[in-house]
Amino acid sequence: MLSLQWRKQEREADLPAEIYVPLVDALYADVRSLYIGSSAASLAALLTAWKTGALWLIACAAGIVIVTALRAVDMRAYARIRPRLQTVESIRHWEQRYIFGAAIYAFQLGAWTFMTFYFTDDAFSHLFAFTVTLAYMVGTPGRNFASNRLVRAQIIGEGVPMSAALFYAGGFYYAVFGLCLLPFFVALVFISDRLRNTLLEAVIKGRDISLLANRFDTALNNMPHGLCMFDANQRVVVTNQRFREILGLELEIGQKGQTVRELLLYSVDAGAILRSEVDRLAREIESRLKGKDISGLTILKQDGRTLSLTFQSMAQGGSVVLIEDVTERKSAEARISHLARYDSLTGLPNRMYMREQMEKALVGADSKPVAVMFVDLDQFKQVNDTLGHPRGDVLLRAVADRLRHLVRPSDIVARFGGDEFVVVQTPSSGPEEAAALARRIVATLSDTYEVDGHQVVIGASVGIAMSPRDANAPDHLLKIADMALYWAKADQRGTWRFFEPEMDIRAHARRTMELDLRHALANNAFQVFYQPLFDLKTKRVSTCEALLRWPHALRGMISPAEFIPVAEEMGLIVDLGKWVLTEACRECATWPTDVRVAVNLSANQFRRGNVVKTIEQALAETGLDPSRLEIEITESVLFQDTRATRAILDELRDLGVRLSLDDFGTGYSSLSYLQSLPLNKVKIDRSFLEGLDTGDRALVLLRGIARLSGELGLAVTVEGVETVEQLALIAAEPSVTEAQGWLFAPALPAREVRTLLSSTIPEMLERVA
Ligand code: C2E
Ligand code: CA
Ligand code: CA
Repeated sequence: MLSLQWRKQEREADLPAEIYVPLVDALYADVRSLYIGSSAASLAALLTAWKTGALWLIACAAGIVIVTALRAVDMRAYARIRPRLQTVESIRHWEQRYIFGAAIYAFQLGAWTFMTFYFTDDAFSHLFAFTVTLAYMVGTPGRNFASNRLVRAQIIGEGVPMSAALFYAGGFYYAVFGLCLLPFFVALVFISDRLRNTLLEAVIKGRDISLLANRFDTALNNMPHGLCMFDANQRVVVTNQRFREILGLELEIGQKGQTVRELLLYSVDAGAILRSEVDRLAREIESRLKGKDISGLTILKQDGRTLSLTFQSMAQGGSVVLIEDVTERKSAEARISHLARYDSLTGLPNRMYMREQMEKALVGADSKPVAVMFVDLDQFKQVNDTLGHPRGDVLLRAVADRLRHLVRPSDIVARFGGDEFVVVQTPSSGPEEAAALARRIVATLSDTYEVDGHQVVIGASVGIAMSPRDANAPDHLLKIADMALYWAKADQRGTWRFFEPEMDIRAHARRTMELDLRHALANNAFQVFYQPLFDLKTKRVSTCEALLRWPHALRGMISPAEFIPVAEEMGLIVDLGKWVLTEACRECATWPTDVRVAVNLSANQFRRGNVVKTIEQALAETGLDPSRLEIEITESVLFQDTRATRAILDELRDLGVRLSLDDFGTGYSSLSYLQSLPLNKVKIDRSFLEGLDTGDRALVLLRGIARLSGELGLAVTVEGVETVEQLALIAAEPSVTEAQGWLFAPALPAREVRTLLSSTIPEMLERVA
């Protein structure tokens, strides 16, 4: 397909238009030589007519004049019409016209020669006509080689009648003469072709070279880098526009032949470089051009912009220098490195950069004290939740500002993430100075903030670790400062604490407990004990509360108060609680049918486990009647998503399971719960009994709660009854329905509870006495 197209092109226009068109123009260019040539030819024809008296020869002369005149008219016409000729086709038409005219003209010369032979015997005329025509023909390739068709047409136009003349003259010698001329004619055609090809090749090559040069020039001047090529003598070969722009050079400067120093001096004049820099730069650049050092070079311009130079030596000697304005890139790099090291919200160093700085500070402190403080905001989450994140951000920025103002320039303040900050006091004279700063941090951060017109109050807790006293490595210091913070928060928010080795031991113990707990659960190492609740009317056991026991190989019986919070945090409580529940139901199923079992459920079980399903399964598995199961929940269960919790409690009630509110009086003790939730029982915390001996207030409160609950139709249990006096006091209050406590029995192993279940209170008390 491609070759087909190419062939077609070759046939139609064997030359590119930009070469072909000027060639045709050249044919029409010279009218004068036409006049001179044809005047000479017509005079020669007239002379032969005059000498021989042959009339036909006069006609020949006239013919030459007429054709010349017509050609001259045509040439004028071409000159006139030329500006309107747009297409190669139209130009080709004019070429053909020219060839036609020139061929006729050549034929006339040939015809004249033939006629001198045909009409006369005059040897002079023969020689004269033959020579003139031949001379004209010999000049043809030189004049017209550009158009090979024109050359052929003229040679044939002259050659055929000339040869005819010789053959007409007859005889052996003339015939040989005629034959000998033929190769000569052919050679003329070849010469013309060769001339033409040579010319065209040169023209085309020249054109290609100038195209290439143009393209190269365009590329050079449109590249974003400045470029300067030096020869082996370190003189400029070429520079591009960008190069001159960057160095402030005029067009004529930065051309061939200049030296590095000259370029630099021009650049000084243009105000781009400082004069004092020239010597150094010239030395640096020259050593690189010599190939001694090919590392890049950075130049700071007078206007503050940064240039980066790279050097590339060339195989044939000399080098190319690329010059780039890297100001923007440099500042972007600086910005990125700032982003990587600073917190974008507060502008404080981030965790990573702070660690770096801490490392430096610790090395610099040279075993003098450094205090590392972990600062955590109290109630920040609430602010974020109620006022929204944008205002939370404003608050964090305000906190960062206050911290910044609290410390000395040598100290470090960083944002560790979220609402955690780290302050490093370096150098620190010791714990007193650290404590003073911690106190100021707590006080300053606890001052009221104004956020978008809202008055916001938050607190702060601080954990402090001292180097070298507590630790030396940054990570270790941060870890134990965090540990101290944990204790500060557990203690009482809005305070500060130093790290103590005890904390580490406790943390360690806690980790050990976590491991042990997992192990115990996997190995079924737990037991359920049961503590009876006595009905004060019937004087008999009405319910037994299931209480978890963990007999530990090394530590003896571990209190659930100790390990249940850990199990909750680890999420183990869901599986553990399920096990207790099933165990308790199974045990209860063996008891007399009027005795219930009470099982404690923690808030986490509500949050993470599917409580209803777990209870249903336990009941189904053990065959226990739902009405014999009591679930004890504390108020903390109710703090969670109340709607979801309510739905669960309703489902449990629908199942027929009873619900008790445990530890009432220790938490919020919201009376509204008593009324709004599907409760069956309230268990009044034993802390009320502790107060009974010392004053009436506790008793009044206890009675109040008991009566209110009673009126709402709830059973009332008083927990923690340890003395007969306490029993007497609560028994005097008719709304109290049950009592639980060591006075009757502690939590007992299942086996012992079974024997006890038929006991009444008097028997129980006897046993205690
Ligand atoms: P709680 O539900 O308030 O359980 C009553 C706690 O008071 C039990 O402690 C019990 O042994 C103790 N107690 C009973 N009578 C007296 C008394 O006269 N005087 C004093 N001073 N204490 C008495 P225990 O067994 O150590 O349980 C502590 C807490 O652990 C329980 O408090 C309960 O919140 C939790 N717990 C126990 N077992 C489980 C369980 O299986 N699941 C869940 N989620 N929590 C449990
Ligand atoms: Ca309980
Ligand atoms: Ca309780």
